[in-house]
Amino acid sequence: MTVVYDRVALIGLGLIASSMYWAIKRAGIAGHVSGFARSGETRRTAREIGLCDEICESAAEAVHGADLVVLCVPVGAMGNVAAEIAPALKPGACVSDVGSVKKAVFEAVAPHIPDGVHFIPAHPLAGTEHSGPRSGFATLFDERFCLIVPAERTVPEEVARLSAFWQSLGAHTEEMDADHHDLVLAVTSHAPHLIAYTMVGVADDLRRVTDSEVIKYSAAGFRDFTRIAASDPVMWRDVFLNNKDATLEILGRFTEELFALQRAIRTGDGALLHDYFTRTRAIRRGIIEAGQDTDAPDFGRMRRD
Ligand code: NAP
Repeated sequence: MTVVYDRVALIGLGLIASSMYWAIKRAGIAGHVSGFARSGETRRTAREIGLCDEICESAAEAVHGADLVVLCVPVGAMGNVAAEIAPALKPGACVSDVGSVKKAVFEAVAPHIPDGVHFIPAHPLAGTEHSGPRSGFATLFDERFCLIVPAERTVPEEVARLSAFWQSLGAHTEEMDADHHDLVLAVTSHAPHLIAYTMVGVADDLRRVTDSEVIKYSAAGFRDFTRIAASDPVMWRDVFLNNKDATLEILGRFTEELFALQRAIRTGDGALLHDYFTRTRAIRRGIIEAGQDTDAPDFGRMRRD
């Protein structure tokens, strides 16, 4: 594999950055990778597990001489981190990010990017409910999409280079504009997370009544909600605060559909329920056919019976 960027800097060393590092090493596409996280504890852990070729004591030190800088911090922290690294960026470097929201990140980061430095936001559609420097693994991005979100005047060669970088990490890449990205992600990720958080919250309220039966008898549907609802609270707080309009739009539609199903249950409209569930089943089949999930029963979980 040929080197795509000689020097790469990862700012923030959680699930996404650590997975990127192991995937970069697997592919051999960078000469040197430096890293920085704000807490001493994360930097210590990173050194202990051999994450990055060098762990620096400041973000500015980490980006010094880097050809590609990737911001891997929560969406709400991107602007401050960009301001901190701006004076240390190498002319001609490319700054990117992995944030789950794109318009707000662009608005927060772009004003800090100096002339002569490229800024190309991106979002790998891959993750788990785990976080921190120990949670990463090299195959996280394999066969997943990474959406690249160039601005109007972005240099096409730089977009092609960043796309080649993500493809080397195992991802398929596609270009998308920021507004469209935020709407699509509100449907496929942000609203489902909010619904999972709500459902687990409801069950938690109920648990006080039924005294732990909710956990003891937790069935597959609820367990899947709890996995999603175990995702990092800071990351998800920032996602909702920064993708307000699209999330509220989708939640409005969700509420209308929920009322329609509620009414069908009340009025005994079995045909409506059957048609609805038939349509949703086809969507699941489409996701499996696209190679984006497994069709193994119970998502491939091992049985313990
Ligand atoms: P993570 O495992 O929780 O790691 C976050 C990192 O950001 C940590 O190193 C943390 O530093 C640092 N950080 C947190 N708050 C900060 C602040 N205010 N200022 C500076 N640094 C801060 O998170 P992640 O899952 O890798 O997510 C990183 C980014 O990827 C987020 O923007 C998220 O939206 C996006 N993303 C996540 C997923 C997913 O499923 N997890 C998927 C795609 C994209 P310390 O360790 O020192 O506290």
